[in-house]
Amino acid sequence: MKEKKKSADLALFGGGPAFEDKVHVGRPNIGDREKLLDTIGDVIDRCWLTNHGPNVREFENRIAEMTGVDHCIAMNNGTQALEIAIRTAGLSGEVIVPSFTFIATAHALQWQHITPLFCDIDPGTHNIEPDKVEQMITPQTTGIIGVHLWGRPCAVEALEEIAERHELKLIFDAAHAFGCSHGGRMIGNFGRAEIFSFHATKFFNTFEGGAVVTNDAGLAGEIRLARNFGFAGYDNVIRLGINAKMNEVSAAMGLVGLESVDEFIGTNHQNYLHYQQELKEIPWLSLVTYDESEKCNYQYIVIEIDSPQSHIGRDLLIDILHAENVLARRYFYPGCHRMEPYRSSYSGPALPATEKLSESVISLPNGSSVDRNDISLICNIIRFAIENGPEVTEVHESADRS
Ligand SMILES: *Cc1c(COP(=O)(O)O)cnc(C)c1O
Repeated sequence: MKEKKKSADLALFGGGPAFEDKVHVGRPNIGDREKLLDTIGDVIDRCWLTNHGPNVREFENRIAEMTGVDHCIAMNNGTQALEIAIRTAGLSGEVIVPSFTFIATAHALQWQHITPLFCDIDPGTHNIEPDKVEQMITPQTTGIIGVHLWGRPCAVEALEEIAERHELKLIFDAAHAFGCSHGGRMIGNFGRAEIFSFHATKFFNTFEGGAVVTNDAGLAGEIRLARNFGFAGYDNVIRLGINAKMNEVSAAMGLVGLESVDEFIGTNHQNYLHYQQELKEIPWLSLVTYDESEKCNYQYIVIEIDSPQSHIGRDLLIDILHAENVLARRYFYPGCHRMEPYRSSYSGPALPATEKLSESVISLPNGSSVDRNDISLICNIIRFAIENGPEVTEVHESADRS
């Protein structure tokens, strides 16, 4: 791994940036390099690059085994997995989703001419609030998509109960929640289907990739058909379908990565505990917590800044971190309902909890590319900025503000 160079002084004190090389949110975790190159070499030697190859089949079995789910259908990315789950589960008309999520949750519906109805969140959990979901149901509503944001399970039982009572279909966007559990049961087992993303920025990746997992055999069959143009055998197309297949090299990355998945989680967890230690004395700041009695991937280090109280606002803190080459992110600012194509025609309810949270949250770097010293330094920057306020925190002109 490349050594991150640290200059002696923080930019705050007038030196160069604290980190000479940029420290990112979402830097990929990669498994054993030699093994990966060998496994990719095998793909090339076999000359079986895609279409239900041995790596994809093994990868699907491993994911199903790890999550205790009957069926795993691997895909080229999480968004297509979501689109296919939505379509095959029979969603149409209007579907209730949170606005405080990555834009793909909404786009996967809108792309298929299904209207996302944006629901507010519980400010404590950051997940959709079941009472608010129930208030939004109309005669056109066919389903609910819950998002397990940061890998923290949403109110699964309450949503199941509402879905059942109103005859709605319930799907979960579990893009953040691979390796997490709820009530001792692995995420993947809830609702009609759940989707994972294995994008490079997620804690476990296949370069690009995703999967639908479900315990419904009939639905799994429909999803397999949809993933491969509706082919039921050579020359035999029995449905409308699309191409959402995972390729063999991505599956190779996944198989090798899975061998290190416990290590990735262990590193994330240690990093999380170190952040917790370093941040706990800082005023006007709180760190998102995880239920230590459940399984969790600890990928997201999310802090909330109490902006009217703190000397500096969230956005200035981000600028300062960027000036120090810490590429923290404003996940998920400004909320889907404030992005196109939803913003221009927005006629839904006010979403005060979503708006407040999207203006106060910062996601900090985690994963195998940050170590204890990096974390201490990042937290020192935050502490200094928050305790001293804008008048003494001078942002470097040369900083990358993107
Ligand atoms: C990453 C993500 C997706 C999309 O997954 P891709 O693999 O990038 O297509 C969907 N929903 C959420 C909440 C995500 O974070």
